[in-house]
Amino acid sequence: MIKLVKGFKDILPEEAGLWQHVEMLVRELLEDFGFAELRIPILEQTELFARSIGTSTDIVEKEMYTFIDRSGESLTLRPEATASVVRAYIEHRLYAKNPVRKLYTIGPMFRRERPQKGRYRQFYQINAEVFGLHDPRADAELILLLMTFMGRLELSGIVLHINSLGCPACRPRFKDALKSFLTGRSEQLCSDCLRRRDKNPLRIFDCKVPACKETMQDAPSILEHLCNTCQSHFEIVKTSLDRFQMPYQVNPRLVRGLDYYTRTTFEVLAETLGAQDAVAGGGRYDGLVKALGGPDQPGIGFAIGIDRLMALLAGRAQDFEKRPHIFIAAIGEQAQNIAFQWVQDLRRQRVRAEMDFENRSLKSQMRRADKLGVTYALIVGDRELDDGAAVLRNMTTKEQEKVSLQNVVTLVANRIRAEQSIH
Ligand code: AMP
Repeated sequence: MIKLVKGFKDILPEEAGLWQHVEMLVRELLEDFGFAELRIPILEQTELFARSIGTSTDIVEKEMYTFIDRSGESLTLRPEATASVVRAYIEHRLYAKNPVRKLYTIGPMFRRERPQKGRYRQFYQINAEVFGLHDPRADAELILLLMTFMGRLELSGIVLHINSLGCPACRPRFKDALKSFLTGRSEQLCSDCLRRRDKNPLRIFDCKVPACKETMQDAPSILEHLCNTCQSHFEIVKTSLDRFQMPYQVNPRLVRGLDYYTRTTFEVLAETLGAQDAVAGGGRYDGLVKALGGPDQPGIGFAIGIDRLMALLAGRAQDFEKRPHIFIAAIGEQAQNIAFQWVQDLRRQRVRAEMDFENRSLKSQMRRADKLGVTYALIVGDRELDDGAAVLRNMTTKEQEKVSLQNVVTLVANRIRAEQSIH
Protein backbone atom coordinates (compact mmCIF):
# COMPACT_ATOMS: atom_id res chain seq x y z
CA MET A 1 0.00 0.00 0.00
CA ILE A 2 1.27 3.46 -0.80
CA LYS A 3 1.49 5.57 2.35
CA LEU A 4 1.98 9.19 3.33
CA VAL A 5 5.36 10.77 2.75
CA LYS A 6 7.34 11.02 6.01
CA GLY A 7 6.63 14.24 7.89
CA PHE A 8 3.41 14.88 5.95
CA LYS A 9 -0.09 14.26 7.26
CA ASP A 10 -3.76 14.17 6.39
CA ILE A 11 -6.27 16.36 8.15
CA LEU A 12 -9.16 13.99 8.66
CA PRO A 13 -12.88 14.84 8.44
CA GLU A 14 -13.21 14.59 12.24
CA GLU A 15 -10.64 17.38 12.64
CA ALA A 16 -11.65 19.55 9.69
CA GLY A 17 -14.52 21.30 11.49
CA LEU A 18 -12.14 22.68 14.11
CA TRP A 19 -9.66 23.80 11.43
CA GLN A 20 -12.48 25.62 9.66
CA HIS A 21 -13.60 27.23 12.93
CA VAL A 22 -10.07 28.48 13.69
CA GLU A 23 -9.66 29.85 10.18
CA MET A 24 -13.03 31.55 10.30
CA LEU A 25 -12.24 33.19 13.66
CA VAL A 26 -8.89 34.49 12.47
CA ARG A 27 -10.25 35.81 9.18
CA GLU A 28 -12.95 37.70 11.05
CA LEU A 29 -10.46 39.19 13.48
CA LEU A 30 -7.88 40.11 10.83
CA GLU A 31 -10.52 41.79 8.72
CA ASP A 32 -11.73 43.77 11.76
CA PHE A 33 -8.13 44.97 12.15
CA GLY A 34 -8.05 46.15 8.53
CA PHE A 35 -6.29 43.21 6.87
CA ALA A 36 -7.16 41.94 3.40
CA GLU A 37 -6.45 38.45 2.14
CA LEU A 38 -3.68 37.82 -0.36
CA ARG A 39 -3.44 34.36 -1.92
CA ILE A 40 0.05 33.48 -3.06
CA PRO A 41 1.45 30.40 -4.79
CA ILE A 42 3.29 27.69 -2.88
CA LEU A 43 6.10 27.62 -5.44
CA GLU A 44 8.59 30.45 -5.94
CA GLN A 45 12.00 30.98 -7.43
CA THR A 46 14.60 29.63 -5.02
CA GLU A 47 16.45 32.92 -5.02
CA LEU A 48 13.53 34.68 -3.32
CA PHE A 49 14.00 32.62 -0.17
CA ALA A 50 17.79 32.58 -0.29
CA ARG A 51 17.86 36.37 -0.47
CA SER A 52 15.21 37.06 2.14
CA ILE A 53 15.57 34.35 4.78
CA GLY A 54 19.37 34.39 4.56
CA THR A 55 21.83 31.88 3.12
CA SER A 56 23.30 30.92 6.48
CA THR A 57 20.02 30.00 8.15
CA ASP A 58 18.97 26.39 8.81
CA ILE A 59 15.99 26.83 6.52
CA VAL A 60 17.99 27.81 3.46
CA GLU A 61 21.04 25.68 4.25
CA LYS A 62 19.26 22.39 4.72
CA GLU A 63 15.48 22.46 4.91
CA MET A 64 14.14 23.67 1.58
CA TYR A 65 12.35 21.48 -0.95
CA THR A 66 14.19 22.73 -4.00
CA PHE A 67 14.20 21.21 -7.46
CA ILE A 68 15.20 22.10 -10.97
CA ASP A 69 12.16 22.57 -13.16
CA ARG A 70 12.15 21.11 -16.67
CA SER A 71 13.02 24.57 -17.94
CA GLY A 72 16.22 24.53 -15.87
CA GLU A 73 14.92 27.05 -13.33
CA SER A 74 15.51 26.41 -9.62
CA LEU A 75 12.19 26.41 -7.78
CA THR A 76 11.34 25.93 -4.09
CA LEU A 77 8.23 24.97 -2.15
CA ARG A 78 7.79 27.93 0.16
CA PRO A 79 9.22 27.37 3.65
CA GLU A 80 7.47 30.51 4.94
CA ALA A 81 5.16 33.19 3.60
CA THR A 82 6.69 36.60 4.31
CA ALA A 83 9.07 36.46 1.36
CA SER A 84 6.20 35.73 -1.05
CA VAL A 85 3.99 38.44 0.44
CA VAL A 86 6.82 40.95 0.05
CA ARG A 87 7.39 39.79 -3.52
CA ALA A 88 3.69 40.31 -4.30
CA TYR A 89 3.69 43.74 -2.57
CA ILE A 90 6.53 44.79 -4.85
CA GLU A 91 5.47 43.00 -8.04
CA HIS A 92 1.91 44.34 -8.05
CA ARG A 93 2.95 47.75 -6.72
CA LEU A 94 0.57 47.33 -3.79
CA TYR A 95 2.31 50.34 -2.26
CA ALA A 96 1.47 52.66 -5.15
CA LYS A 97 -1.73 54.26 -3.82
CA ASN A 98 -0.77 54.03 -0.19
CA PRO A 99 2.33 52.27 1.13
CA VAL A 100 0.42 51.18 4.22
CA ARG A 101 -1.01 47.76 3.43
CA LYS A 102 -2.16 45.07 5.81
CA LEU A 103 -2.22 41.63 4.23
CA TYR A 104 -2.89 38.13 5.45
CA THR A 105 -2.59 34.69 3.97
CA ILE A 106 -3.34 31.16 5.17
CA GLY A 107 -1.80 27.99 3.79
CA PRO A 108 0.82 25.25 3.86
CA MET A 109 4.59 25.70 4.26
CA PHE A 110 7.28 23.12 3.58
CA ARG A 111 10.49 22.52 5.52
CA ARG A 112 12.54 19.35 5.44
CA GLU A 113 13.14 19.28 9.18
CA ARG A 114 13.46 16.13 11.26
CA PRO A 115 9.85 15.12 11.89
CA GLN A 116 8.78 14.84 15.52
CA LYS A 117 5.80 15.71 17.69
CA GLY A 118 4.62 19.17 16.62
CA ARG A 119 7.08 19.34 13.74
CA TYR A 120 6.02 18.41 10.24
CA ARG A 121 7.49 18.80 6.80
CA GLN A 122 4.26 20.28 5.54
CA PHE A 123 2.60 22.48 8.13
CA TYR A 124 0.07 25.28 8.02
CA GLN A 125 0.42 28.91 8.93
CA ILE A 126 -1.71 32.01 9.28
CA ASN A 127 0.45 34.96 8.24
CA ALA A 128 -0.24 38.63 8.80
CA GLU A 129 2.01 41.36 7.41
CA VAL A 130 1.83 45.15 7.77
CA PHE A 131 3.77 47.40 5.41
CA GLY A 132 4.58 51.07 5.57
CA LEU A 133 4.39 51.75 9.32
CA HIS A 134 7.47 52.77 11.31
CA ASP A 135 5.58 53.61 14.47
CA PRO A 136 6.25 51.21 17.38
CA ARG A 137 2.55 51.29 18.19
CA ALA A 138 2.08 49.29 14.98
CA ASP A 139 4.30 46.57 16.52
CA ALA A 140 2.23 46.60 19.70
CA GLU A 141 -1.02 46.55 17.77
CA LEU A 142 0.05 43.49 15.80
CA ILE A 143 1.04 41.70 19.00
CA LEU A 144 -2.30 42.64 20.55
CA LEU A 145 -4.09 41.23 17.52
CA LEU A 146 -2.18 37.98 17.87
CA MET A 147 -2.94 37.71 21.58
CA THR A 148 -6.61 38.61 21.05
CA PHE A 149 -6.83 35.68 18.71
CA MET A 150 -5.23 33.38 21.30
CA GLY A 151 -7.73 34.74 23.82
CA ARG A 152 -10.69 34.04 21.56
CA LEU A 153 -9.53 30.45 21.28
CA GLU A 154 -9.50 30.35 25.09
CA LEU A 155 -6.00 28.95 25.16
CA SER A 156 -4.43 28.73 28.56
CA GLY A 157 -0.80 28.38 29.62
CA ILE A 158 0.60 30.53 26.86
CA VAL A 159 3.24 33.23 27.29
CA LEU A 160 4.37 36.08 25.12
CA HIS A 161 8.11 36.71 24.75
CA ILE A 162 9.40 39.90 23.19
CA ASN A 163 12.83 41.22 22.29
CA SER A 164 14.55 43.75 20.09
CA LEU A 165 17.21 42.68 17.61
CA GLY A 166 18.40 46.22 16.92
CA CYS A 167 19.02 47.66 13.48
CA PRO A 168 21.90 47.81 10.97
CA ALA A 169 23.35 50.65 13.06
CA CYS A 170 23.62 48.77 16.35
CA ARG A 171 23.46 45.07 15.58
CA PRO A 172 27.01 44.84 14.13
CA ARG A 173 28.34 46.11 17.48
CA PHE A 174 26.43 43.40 19.26
CA LYS A 175 27.66 40.76 16.81
CA ASP A 176 31.23 41.85 17.53
CA ALA A 177 30.62 41.67 21.28
CA LEU A 178 29.15 38.20 20.83
CA LYS A 179 32.07 37.06 18.68
CA SER A 180 34.60 38.21 21.22
CA PHE A 181 32.62 36.47 23.97
CA LEU A 182 32.70 33.26 21.91
CA THR A 183 36.40 33.50 21.10
CA GLY A 184 38.19 31.12 23.40
CA ARG A 185 35.01 29.14 23.99
CA SER A 186 35.42 26.90 20.93
CA GLU A 187 35.50 23.72 23.01
CA GLN A 188 32.12 24.56 24.48
CA LEU A 189 30.36 24.86 21.11
CA CYS A 190 28.98 22.19 18.76
CA SER A 191 30.34 22.00 15.21
CA ASP A 192 27.29 23.82 13.78
CA CYS A 193 27.75 26.70 16.22
CA LEU A 194 31.45 26.93 15.43
CA ARG A 195 30.42 27.63 11.85
CA ARG A 196 27.69 30.02 12.98
CA ARG A 197 30.15 31.95 15.15
CA ASP A 198 31.79 33.54 12.15
CA LYS A 199 28.87 33.76 9.76
CA ASN A 200 25.85 34.39 11.95
CA PRO A 201 26.62 34.27 15.70
CA LEU A 202 23.08 35.28 16.76
CA ARG A 203 21.87 31.89 15.57
CA ILE A 204 23.79 30.25 18.43
CA PHE A 205 21.08 31.46 20.83
CA ASP A 206 18.72 29.05 19.07
CA CYS A 207 20.96 25.97 19.37
CA LYS A 208 19.38 23.13 21.36
CA VAL A 209 22.70 21.37 22.21
CA PRO A 210 23.02 21.52 26.04
CA ALA A 211 26.69 22.65 26.00
CA CYS A 212 25.89 25.54 23.64
CA LYS A 213 22.84 26.49 25.68
CA GLU A 214 24.92 26.60 28.84
CA THR A 215 27.66 28.66 27.20
CA MET A 216 25.10 31.18 26.01
CA GLN A 217 23.78 31.68 29.54
CA ASP A 218 26.60 34.14 30.13
CA ALA A 219 26.55 35.72 26.66
CA PRO A 220 26.14 39.50 26.37
CA SER A 221 22.58 40.77 25.96
CA ILE A 222 21.49 42.49 22.78
CA LEU A 223 19.36 44.85 24.84
CA GLU A 224 22.51 46.40 26.26
CA HIS A 225 23.80 47.15 22.77
CA LEU A 226 20.78 48.88 21.23
CA CYS A 227 21.23 52.34 19.77
CA ASN A 228 19.06 55.15 21.18
CA THR A 229 16.49 54.92 18.39
CA CYS A 230 16.07 51.17 18.81
CA GLN A 231 15.93 51.56 22.56
CA SER A 232 13.14 54.11 22.48
CA HIS A 233 11.29 52.08 19.83
CA PHE A 234 11.35 49.07 22.15
CA GLU A 235 10.26 51.19 25.12
CA ILE A 236 7.16 52.36 23.28
CA VAL A 237 6.30 48.81 22.22
CA LYS A 238 6.46 47.77 25.87
CA THR A 239 4.51 50.72 27.26
CA SER A 240 1.83 50.23 24.58
CA LEU A 241 1.45 46.60 25.64
CA ASP A 242 1.31 47.71 29.29
CA ARG A 243 -1.38 50.19 28.44
CA PHE A 244 -3.62 47.34 27.33
CA GLN A 245 -2.59 45.12 30.27
CA MET A 246 -0.94 42.63 27.96
CA PRO A 247 1.49 40.52 29.99
CA TYR A 248 4.86 39.69 28.35
CA GLN A 249 8.35 38.57 29.18
CA VAL A 250 11.36 40.35 27.76
CA ASN A 251 13.64 37.62 26.45
CA PRO A 252 16.99 38.91 25.13
CA ARG A 253 17.76 35.42 23.78
CA LEU A 254 14.84 35.44 21.36
CA VAL A 255 16.54 35.72 17.96
CA ARG A 256 14.18 33.79 15.61
CA GLY A 257 15.33 31.63 12.74
CA LEU A 258 15.26 34.12 9.89
CA ASP A 259 17.79 36.80 9.09
CA TYR A 260 15.53 39.60 7.96
CA TYR A 261 14.29 40.72 11.36
CA THR A 262 15.10 44.15 12.78
CA ARG A 263 14.04 45.63 16.12
CA THR A 264 10.93 44.03 17.61
CA THR A 265 10.66 40.24 17.60
CA PHE A 266 8.15 38.17 19.52
CA GLU A 267 7.05 34.63 20.07
CA VAL A 268 4.07 32.95 21.72
CA LEU A 269 5.01 29.82 23.64
CA ALA A 270 2.82 27.10 25.13
CA GLU A 271 4.43 25.07 27.86
CA THR A 272 2.18 22.03 27.31
CA LEU A 273 3.55 21.51 23.79
CA GLY A 274 6.89 20.13 24.97
CA ALA A 275 10.02 20.62 22.87
CA GLN A 276 8.27 22.33 19.95
CA ASP A 277 6.61 24.95 22.12
CA ALA A 278 6.37 27.94 19.75
CA VAL A 279 2.81 28.52 18.55
CA ALA A 280 3.47 31.80 16.78
CA GLY A 281 6.31 34.16 16.07
CA GLY A 282 7.07 37.32 14.23
CA GLY A 283 8.81 40.63 14.12
CA ARG A 284 9.80 43.72 12.23
CA TYR A 285 11.73 43.54 8.96
CA ASP A 286 12.36 47.10 7.91
CA GLY A 287 15.01 46.44 5.25
CA LEU A 288 13.41 43.49 3.50
CA VAL A 289 11.15 45.22 0.97
CA LYS A 290 14.07 47.33 -0.25
CA ALA A 291 16.46 44.37 -0.27
CA LEU A 292 14.08 42.51 -2.59
CA GLY A 293 13.99 45.43 -5.01
CA GLY A 294 11.00 47.38 -3.70
CA PRO A 295 10.60 50.84 -2.18
CA ASP A 296 12.19 51.57 1.19
CA GLN A 297 9.10 50.63 3.21
CA PRO A 298 9.17 49.00 6.61
CA GLY A 299 7.32 45.78 7.41
CA ILE A 300 6.22 43.78 10.39
CA GLY A 301 4.40 40.48 10.61
CA PHE A 302 3.71 37.21 12.35
CA ALA A 303 3.08 33.57 11.57
CA ILE A 304 0.85 31.31 13.64
CA GLY A 305 1.42 27.56 13.36
CA ILE A 306 -2.05 26.07 12.91
CA ASP A 307 -0.91 22.48 13.56
CA ARG A 308 0.34 23.47 17.00
CA LEU A 309 -2.83 25.42 17.72
CA MET A 310 -4.72 22.24 16.93
CA ALA A 311 -2.57 20.31 19.39
CA LEU A 312 -3.51 22.87 22.05
CA LEU A 313 -7.17 22.59 21.11
CA ALA A 314 -7.18 18.77 21.06
CA GLY A 315 -10.37 17.46 22.56
CA ARG A 316 -12.45 20.29 21.16
CA ALA A 317 -12.59 18.82 17.64
CA GLN A 318 -15.87 16.98 18.22
CA ASP A 319 -17.64 20.23 19.13
CA PHE A 320 -17.05 21.39 15.58
CA GLU A 321 -17.79 18.19 13.69
CA LYS A 322 -20.62 18.86 11.28
CA ARG A 323 -22.90 15.94 11.98
CA PRO A 324 -26.19 15.65 10.08
CA HIS A 325 -29.17 17.13 11.89
CA ILE A 326 -31.68 14.55 10.81
CA PHE A 327 -31.83 11.05 9.38
CA ILE A 328 -34.91 9.99 7.50
CA ALA A 329 -35.67 6.31 7.93
CA ALA A 330 -37.94 5.40 5.05
CA ILE A 331 -39.35 1.93 4.64
CA GLY A 332 -40.88 0.86 1.35
CA GLU A 333 -40.60 2.19 -2.18
CA GLN A 334 -43.18 4.95 -1.86
CA ALA A 335 -41.83 6.23 1.45
CA GLN A 336 -38.29 6.26 0.02
CA ASN A 337 -39.42 8.41 -2.87
CA ILE A 338 -41.08 10.91 -0.56
CA ALA A 339 -38.07 10.93 1.74
CA PHE A 340 -35.77 11.58 -1.21
CA GLN A 341 -37.75 14.74 -1.93
CA TRP A 342 -37.72 15.80 1.74
CA VAL A 343 -33.96 15.40 1.98
CA GLN A 344 -33.46 17.74 -0.98
CA ASP A 345 -36.02 20.25 0.35
CA LEU A 346 -34.45 20.26 3.83
CA ARG A 347 -30.96 20.81 2.43
CA ARG A 348 -32.26 23.77 0.48
CA GLN A 349 -33.23 25.19 3.88
CA ARG A 350 -29.73 24.46 5.19
CA VAL A 351 -30.72 21.46 7.26
CA ARG A 352 -28.18 18.64 7.06
CA ALA A 353 -30.47 15.75 6.18
CA GLU A 354 -29.46 12.18 5.31
CA MET A 355 -31.16 8.96 4.27
CA ASP A 356 -29.97 5.74 2.77
CA PHE A 357 -31.16 4.20 -0.44
CA GLU A 358 -30.93 0.58 0.55
CA ASN A 359 -34.43 0.09 1.89
CA ARG A 360 -33.16 -1.80 4.92
CA SER A 361 -35.21 -2.65 8.02
CA LEU A 362 -36.32 0.09 10.37
CA LYS A 363 -34.00 -1.31 13.03
CA SER A 364 -30.91 -1.12 10.85
CA GLN A 365 -31.80 2.37 9.60
CA MET A 366 -32.19 3.55 13.21
CA ARG A 367 -28.80 2.05 13.99
CA ARG A 368 -27.37 4.15 11.16
CA ALA A 369 -29.11 7.24 12.59
CA ASP A 370 -27.52 6.53 15.96
CA LYS A 371 -24.06 6.13 14.44
CA LEU A 372 -24.39 9.41 12.57
CA GLY A 373 -25.14 11.13 15.89
CA VAL A 374 -28.18 13.00 14.53
CA THR A 375 -30.46 15.02 16.76
CA TYR A 376 -33.63 13.75 15.07
CA ALA A 377 -34.83 10.76 13.11
CA LEU A 378 -37.88 10.99 10.93
CA ILE A 379 -39.65 7.69 10.40
CA VAL A 380 -41.91 7.06 7.44
CA GLY A 381 -43.34 3.74 6.20
CA ASP A 382 -46.59 2.45 4.70
CA ARG A 383 -48.48 2.94 7.97
CA GLU A 384 -47.35 6.56 8.30
CA LEU A 385 -48.34 7.20 4.69
CA ASP A 386 -51.81 5.82 5.39
CA ASP A 387 -51.99 7.94 8.56
CA GLY A 388 -50.86 11.06 6.73
CA ALA A 389 -48.25 11.69 9.44
CA ALA A 390 -44.59 10.73 9.88
CA VAL A 391 -42.97 10.11 13.27
CA LEU A 392 -40.33 12.57 14.44
CA ARG A 393 -38.07 11.09 17.10
CA ASN A 394 -35.78 13.15 19.29
CA MET A 395 -32.71 10.94 19.56
CA THR A 396 -31.59 12.40 22.88
CA THR A 397 -34.85 12.43 24.83
CA LYS A 398 -36.35 9.53 22.83
CA GLU A 399 -39.63 11.49 22.65
CA GLN A 400 -41.72 10.89 19.54
CA GLU A 401 -44.39 13.01 17.91
CA LYS A 402 -46.53 12.79 14.81
CA VAL A 403 -45.97 15.35 12.09
CA SER A 404 -48.39 15.75 9.21
CA LEU A 405 -46.77 14.86 5.87
CA GLN A 406 -47.58 18.27 4.44
CA ASN A 407 -45.76 20.10 7.23
CA VAL A 408 -42.71 17.91 7.67
CA VAL A 409 -40.15 20.06 5.89
CA THR A 410 -41.21 23.38 7.39
CA LEU A 411 -41.61 22.01 10.88
CA VAL A 412 -38.28 20.20 10.93
CA ALA A 413 -36.41 23.16 9.42
CA ASN A 414 -37.93 25.58 11.96
CA ARG A 415 -37.25 23.25 14.88
CA ILE A 416 -33.59 22.79 13.95
CA ARG A 417 -33.07 26.46 13.26
CA ALA A 418 -34.58 27.37 16.64
CA GLU A 419 -32.34 24.89 18.43
CA GLN A 420 -29.25 26.20 16.66
CA SER A 421 -29.96 29.75 17.77
CA ILE A 422 -30.22 28.56 21.39
CA HIS A 423 -26.77 26.91 21.29
P1 AMP B 1 8.66 30.42 11.93
O1 AMP B 1 8.26 30.76 10.53
O2 AMP B 1 9.76 29.40 12.02
O3 AMP B 1 8.83 31.57 12.80
O4 AMP B 1 7.40 29.63 12.51
C1 AMP B 1 6.22 30.25 12.90
C2 AMP B 1 5.32 29.20 13.50
O5 AMP B 1 5.06 28.16 12.56
C3 AMP B 1 5.96 28.49 14.69
O6 AMP B 1 5.73 29.21 15.87
C4 AMP B 1 5.25 27.16 14.66
O7 AMP B 1 4.00 27.25 15.33
C5 AMP B 1 4.99 26.91 13.22
N1 AMP B 1 5.99 25.99 12.65
C6 AMP B 1 7.23 26.28 12.18
N2 AMP B 1 7.83 25.17 11.70
C7 AMP B 1 6.97 24.15 11.89
C8 AMP B 1 7.00 22.75 11.60
N3 AMP B 1 8.04 22.17 11.01
N4 AMP B 1 5.92 21.99 11.93
C9 AMP B 1 4.84 22.56 12.51
N5 AMP B 1 4.75 23.87 12.80
C10 AMP B 1 5.79 24.66 12.49
